[in-house]
Amino acid sequence: MLRSPGRQRFRYELPLHPRHRRIRTIPAGDRHCGWIETLPFLPPARRLISEEKADCAVIGAGFTGLACARRLAELRPGWRIAVVDAHRAGDGASGRSSGFVVDRAHFIARLGPETSRRYRDLCRFGIDQLRQTVQRHGIGCDWDETGWIHGAAGAEGAAALPHLRAWLDSLGEPYEWLDAAGLERITGTAHYRAGIRLPGSVLVQAAALARGLAASLPASVVLFEESPVRAIDRGDRFRLETDAGSLEADRLFLAANGCTPALGFLRRRVFPLFTFGSLTRPLTPAEQEALGGEREWGLLAEDPMGSTVRRTHDQRILIRNSAHYTPRLAVDDARRLDARALHRVAFLARFPRLRHVEFEYTWGGILGASPNRGHSFGELDEGLFAAAGYTGAGIAMGTTAGILLADLAAGEESERLEAMLGLPEPTRLPPQPFLGIGARWQVGRMNASAAETM
Ligand SMILES: Cc1cc2nc3c(=O)[nH]c(=O)nc-3n(C[C@H](O)[C@H](O)[C@H](O)COP(=O)(O)OP(=O)(O)OC[C@H]3O[C@@H](n4cnc5c(N)ncnc54)[C@H](O)[C@@H]3O)c2cc1C
Repeated sequence: MLRSPGRQRFRYELPLHPRHRRIRTIPAGDRHCGWIETLPFLPPARRLISEEKADCAVIGAGFTGLACARRLAELRPGWRIAVVDAHRAGDGASGRSSGFVVDRAHFIARLGPETSRRYRDLCRFGIDQLRQTVQRHGIGCDWDETGWIHGAAGAEGAAALPHLRAWLDSLGEPYEWLDAAGLERITGTAHYRAGIRLPGSVLVQAAALARGLAASLPASVVLFEESPVRAIDRGDRFRLETDAGSLEADRLFLAANGCTPALGFLRRRVFPLFTFGSLTRPLTPAEQEALGGEREWGLLAEDPMGSTVRRTHDQRILIRNSAHYTPRLAVDDARRLDARALHRVAFLARFPRLRHVEFEYTWGGILGASPNRGHSFGELDEGLFAAAGYTGAGIAMGTTAGILLADLAAGEESERLEAMLGLPEPTRLPPQPFLGIGARWQVGRMNASAAETM
């Protein structure tokens, strides 16, 4: 038996009340994400179209939900664990992400010495777990440990880099300081002023990783895809309803990140924030030659709201920037094309020699945001667990949170779990409509102020 640890970190969260919750907003699916669309075709999904029973139900098959299900199966091999997703596994933010498996980032460095060290260690645990699973199951996801770069294009980014360097020094972390010429040698562009390369940091094709994780789940885990959960009921057990089926379980794990408020939970802690990515077509050998630099690299912007840039394994250029708030969990084509225009500006500023190279894909994905980048993690009510947040570190941190959520439910005490429970909580959000007004204003301001270094 899993024991209930009686550790309700979310005292502000009401028990499941009313006992029946209808879910009216489901994240929209689309065929725009280049990472997903360039993967091999999938066999048809198993949908939740009958009356199913399980010991544990997980909503969300991204990095959090997949890690949680895998760990539950490991801790309780005799149990049936069901994972339910509205789309294919990994097709949420997980497969749409830029693939930086983050453990040392500027926002972590700003958390203060003790918290930032703990945060780094928790991310690193997630990375180790992912590495082991990738190796054990031979998951092809372009796993690359050459090391990505923190790059500064503008004055603000350049001013922030020494702080990151001081933090790395305080932890005894290895790094390579790069001046403009050093960055140009790697990236082929003279756009950046300075940067820090982190040897051993990991880049992946995140959609391939998420799919590989889903395909290698233990036999006791059943994955229902293309099955949006439309209602959650609590009687003696939890009951999830989909369009044509239902699932009853003793315990429920919410791993829907930015969609958690749409499920009716963490409404005052997490809000959905879209960010956007574009991928070019693959560069020809002549274009690769003209670009120069290394064959594969990744760069995270040190400038606030700056662009994430990658040269991928298959020789495309990725640009990710800009944000948009909407609780509808969908963006229309006009918004997506606005983002593409901003990506184009960033692309041309860096790679004028490639001005004839068009984007083949532009997509949006939903982050779980909070004003202070805090973490939602814990038991909301008896048998009801949730993890959400992570901002730009969800590949590693989502994996860690999923594993530790299973540990929390199973009563598996550890220092690591204590560290997770001790991370800063999200600040409390105002109710709607004030949240919407504030979020749109803040995001608009950030997008506008970033135009120079985007
Ligand atoms: C463009 C972009 C770039 C990013 N780049 C990076 C990066 O480089 N590195 C990094 O670490 N992080 C990055 N992130 C953030 C990262 O993707 C997330 O933090 C992480 O994927 C969260 O994983 P998750 O499993 O918690 O959530 P998700 O992957 O969002 O999974 C939640 C799942 O819940 C499902 N769901 C929601 N509602 C329902 C419902 N009613 N019924 C059934 N299923 C439902 C969704 O379909 C979805 O699959 C990026 C995000 C975006 C959008």
